[in-house]
Amino acid sequence: MTAADDLIVLRPEGLYCPPGRFYIDPWRPVERAVITHAHADHARRGHGAYLATAISAGVLRARLGAITLQGLEYGEAVWLDGVRISLHPAGHVLGSAQVRVEHGGQVWVASGDYFTSGQVEDVNSTCAPFEPVRCHCFITESTFGMPIYRWRPQAEVMAQVNAWWQANADAGRASLLLGYSFGKAQRLLAGVDAAIGPIFTHGAVEPLNQAYRAAGVALPATTQLDDRCDRTLLPRALVIAPPAVLGSAWAQKLGDFSDAFASGWMQLRGARRRRGVDRGFVLSDHADWPGLQRAIAATGASRVIVTHGYEAVMVRWLQQQGLQAGSLQTAFGKDDDEVAAQPAELSVPAPAGLAAPG
Ligand SMILES: [Zn+2]
Ligand SMILES: [Zn+2]
Repeated sequence: MTAADDLIVLRPEGLYCPPGRFYIDPWRPVERAVITHAHADHARRGHGAYLATAISAGVLRARLGAITLQGLEYGEAVWLDGVRISLHPAGHVLGSAQVRVEHGGQVWVASGDYFTSGQVEDVNSTCAPFEPVRCHCFITESTFGMPIYRWRPQAEVMAQVNAWWQANADAGRASLLLGYSFGKAQRLLAGVDAAIGPIFTHGAVEPLNQAYRAAGVALPATTQLDDRCDRTLLPRALVIAPPAVLGSAWAQKLGDFSDAFASGWMQLRGARRRRGVDRGFVLSDHADWPGLQRAIAATGASRVIVTHGYEAVMVRWLQQQGLQAGSLQTAFGKDDDEVAAQPAELSVPAPAGLAAPG
């Protein structure tokens, strides 16, 4: 799969660009790191210098502390040892980027995590929408790279969320909506109908809301839920919190409540049962199967390298399309929506010609 002049190769530290002597989202400490986005498995501590979008600087510093960071606008170029680098919107979370690398007439794009879906008009309104970038070789994630993953229109999903919240409010019980703190929580907030009732957030979510607002993203008013809050408001309230609060004392203090989990994994019946929540809403910040296909086609790449997710399924499908395809084993996929499904939940028969992932 690798050739001597590949622009991006796998090293023990991470994805490496030999002529530019930098890494992309490295998982071990390195001198020069280009960071696609601030989720913990892509943005780690301990690198000498960081290059990322300027708009992600606030969240990166909040998570990583005082780092040496150069911020770029989308589309702005810098050169490292003669390699041209630019960052392009990935539509995944605030500041998320695809990394375009150009050298010696070759263009490679490492996409990090990205959102685009088979619902062509759907974009993630809380960040710059995914933009396909033409390239010779495209490095793609495959978190939901199985034909069973097809997102419904997000307006339809948010209508389900609002109907659930309204019904709970009418019955006088709180609505505890679980989603990852960085990205999913804000996407939910941007889509809910704030006229239904007050919105409270967990302490892990509220600082990120503030980072989004500081970046100019419109979100409804939220209040961090703590002991000073007026808890008589809870029976009409929506409470947004990370999944880790499930079964916690923090959640018990909400009194009577219904809980729901928003994630791409909710497409699998077993996933909701295993979480033990009342409702599951299928909403992801990652591309679904048609979205992955569309994104890859739009790059015009003749070669595709698949990372974290269902690599085997994706590689097989790409090869059937006549593309040169292979996979690389990265350390990504331990954060946000990427926590893998249980094997039992994947007993859905794969369509003809597609092997189940190993
Ligand atoms: Zn991510
Ligand atoms: Zn990822």
